[in-house]
Amino acid sequence: MDLQGKKITVIGAGIGGLTAALALKQRGASVHVLEQAEAIKEVGAGLQISPNGMAVLKALGVDGALKKRAVRADAVELRDYAAGRLVSRLDLGLISENGPLHPTEYYFVHRADLIDVLAEAVRAAGVKVLLLQQVETVVPGDRPKVMMANGAEMIVDLVVGADGLHSKMRPVLNGTVAPFFTRQTAWRATVPNTMAHPDVAQVHMGPKRHVVSYPLRGGELVNIVAVQEQVGWAEEGWHIPDDPANLQKTFKDFGGAVRRMLTEVSDVRKWGLFRHPVAPVWHKDHCVLLGDAAHPTLPFMAQGAVMAMEDAWVLGDALEKAEDFASGLAAYHARRVGRVTKVVDTASKNAWKYHLSNRPLRMAAHMGIRMASTLAPRKMMGQFDWIYLHDVTKE
Ligand SMILES: Cc1cc2nc3c(=O)[nH]c(=O)nc-3n(C[C@H](O)[C@H](O)[C@H](O)COP(=O)(O)OP(=O)(O)OC[C@H]3O[C@@H](n4cnc5c(N)ncnc54)[C@H](O)[C@@H]3O)c2cc1C
Repeated sequence: MDLQGKKITVIGAGIGGLTAALALKQRGASVHVLEQAEAIKEVGAGLQISPNGMAVLKALGVDGALKKRAVRADAVELRDYAAGRLVSRLDLGLISENGPLHPTEYYFVHRADLIDVLAEAVRAAGVKVLLLQQVETVVPGDRPKVMMANGAEMIVDLVVGADGLHSKMRPVLNGTVAPFFTRQTAWRATVPNTMAHPDVAQVHMGPKRHVVSYPLRGGELVNIVAVQEQVGWAEEGWHIPDDPANLQKTFKDFGGAVRRMLTEVSDVRKWGLFRHPVAPVWHKDHCVLLGDAAHPTLPFMAQGAVMAMEDAWVLGDALEKAEDFASGLAAYHARRVGRVTKVVDTASKNAWKYHLSNRPLRMAAHMGIRMASTLAPRKMMGQFDWIYLHDVTKE
């Protein structure tokens, strides 16, 4: 389908929305983005961009700009919580899919830097990004209507709902389903890198808790995500401040580098981890969902933003290759739903592996991981080839 001149509204200037705006604009569409915030900004936090995400950024021509602001990851290290003893190290430098080894492109990036890179590219391409534009609802149809909280309305050819976890478009297509509280709470913070954190992602595994840490911005900062199993309720939302003392108290028996990291925390956000079903309906008439609006995921595979970027690319590609919107949106859904469902399920199953509370069981599990990563490191890493080595731009 020739997208030249087709009017497309993207709701949300987050990672998925900006990537979609760029992918659609590069194919000739007339795109504008509606963002409820007063500025395109991001909270201080890190993201891991695996090779499958870098493939999308490369196809859009923004990988070079991102690499200048990112840290290239050497490895993932699993460490025992008490003294930080190394249990296993999995090299990310070289990877293969039953063939010759080749270097990987696995990066750590500050969310604000990724958003900046995408926003600059989007504006340079001629996309209009309109701020302080809160969408109230959408009326699907051949010419869908976007209704704003300020009473304004607009009618376009296609509406892309990239409005995240609390999407306004998802319930229009799917109704509302209450999410399931996983009885896990997470904190996230960035701290100055006073502990000379290496260019690796470290997973510090303790009973019913784990901490993930990795460097950002040329190693200036360290990103921390700390997860605890708990029975009590915690609110879902990424911006709820908490007292750093609560984080420090919860992880006070963690030694090694974690102890140092946690003493550096002066500003921390806390949120409850919820499981949401993948949306049964992704598109109706000329309205379509992507990213967290369609399939929010737990953070344990670090793939939420990367899946949103993959969605965005495939949406542009599927529309360009289709004869009309209906077949293009159906093709987009068919190409994405299996993969994202598998990623969401894998993330849902992953946390317990780090959280064994029974000491002999934990020691045995750690021994197993150590032996597997020493004897068959490729096999250990290769279990995730289906995620990392898949390139949606070559589908
Ligand atoms: C602690 C943590 C760590 C993570 N780590 C990783 C990682 O390492 N790698 C990874 O790939 N993913 C990671 N993720 C997940 C990732 O951040 C999300 O999956 C991703 O941001 C989703 O992108 P999105 O564009 O769908 O939504 P969002 O980034 O949430 O963007 C939605 C946008 O829509 C706007 N909006 C919302 N409602 C409206 C409205 N009504 N009108 C107008 N605008 C609206 C919002 O203001 C926002 O700008 C992590 C998440 C968390 C919480």
